[in-house]
Amino acid sequence: MMSVLATSSEGTRDVATAPFLRLTSLWIQITGTWCNLECTHCLNASGPGTPWLRPLAPAVARRAIAEGERLGVKEIYFTGGEPFLHREILPLLEASLAAAPTTVLTNGTLMTEALADRLAALAEAARYSFEIRVSLDEVDPVLNDRVRGAGAWAKAVAALRLLDARGLLPIVTATEILGAEAGAGGIYARFREFLRGIGIERPRVKIMPVFAAGRLDGRETERLTEAALEGFDRSLLQCAQTRVVAEGGVYACPILAGLPGARLSGESIEASFRPASLYHPACVTCHRTGMTCGNY
Ligand code: SF4
Repeated sequence: MMSVLATSSEGTRDVATAPFLRLTSLWIQITGTWCNLECTHCLNASGPGTPWLRPLAPAVARRAIAEGERLGVKEIYFTGGEPFLHREILPLLEASLAAAPTTVLTNGTLMTEALADRLAALAEAARYSFEIRVSLDEVDPVLNDRVRGAGAWAKAVAALRLLDARGLLPIVTATEILGAEAGAGGIYARFREFLRGIGIERPRVKIMPVFAAGRLDGRETERLTEAALEGFDRSLLQCAQTRVVAEGGVYACPILAGLPGARLSGESIEASFRPASLYHPACVTCHRTGMTCGNY
């Protein structure tokens, strides 16, 4: 078994690490934690106030796209915060679509007919595939808005309709935050039926676990131990094939973007190709669920 003795930048202690295999997914934390919503479970505590993790300068994002392409990245994701708050988001998506298949994650609340038209035009002209993920936590508006804020459900559903009408086949991203409070049946079946009901013929749903990070930081204190990882192939963790560029450097994964313990390098993505520390309680959720923040 590989050595897992590592030094966290949070302090010196023994922590497990994940090996780095290759750059499959590059995430760009384009708006940092700047968002127009303030969801109760946000894994990086984004919101409308002064962001603790600032948006990226367009030049930094462009250099990340170029370096990712040079390094053979397979897919690029734009996230935040809310990416459509960034003044350069459309030209940056265009640049990314010339380099690799690209996805943008949005809460959908800023979508308009005009923006949907521009996104459809980007997809039409692009060399690579373009995916748009829209966050929605429950098919019931009251339950959803209890988590995501008043009016979020209606705007997100409107966004889904606008995108679907243009053939963009949005992916709904839902979390398990509502647990037993949510409606009957499995979350996937519930969303599928709902999306069909609003006229989306080919529903696509991505379900994410909830992380003890960001606004839910402190909810769990368990850490991955060597004993827990005994016999487990750590290359299955997404941080073995993922990096995120955010303010202040390159980090192990989108869940931990901006956190000192997950920072692996300055602006150079290639310099971040080294083992990532599994120091955070969120790593326990990755290990337990086998999740990835990617589309599939
Ligand atoms: S949160 Fe998950 S993806 Fe991120 S470093 Fe921990 S195990 Fe890896």
